[in-house]
Amino acid sequence: MLILECPYCGVKAEETELAPGGEAHLKRFGPGSADEEFEAYMFARKNPKGVHFERWRHAYGCGKWFLAARCTATLEVFGTYPAQSTEPPADIIDKIKAKRPDWKGFK
Ligand SMILES: [Zn+2]
Repeated sequence: MLILECPYCGVKAEETELAPGGEAHLKRFGPGSADEEFEAYMFARKNPKGVHFERWRHAYGCGKWFLAARCTATLEVFGTYPAQSTEPPADIIDKIKAKRPDWKGFK
């Protein structure tokens, strides 16, 4: 079972207490942008087997959105951090690089 620690209230919540919100760190493109950019923003999502950054909401807790870095293959969680972060914190990146030397990086 997937267990994520909410960075706001500190509760280690099971997956059933959380609501998934899809991929994290999407760059938003509005209707006025180029068709290719808008289409990619609306529909294209990564689906890696390995390190992935996701949005989650502590639905049956504090109700706040947060971001999580985890491995989709093993369910190993590298860390969680506030949803307002524009990129993963350096300590989480270092942790991922230490455990997954072949990881290609955040972008
Ligand atoms: Zn919470």
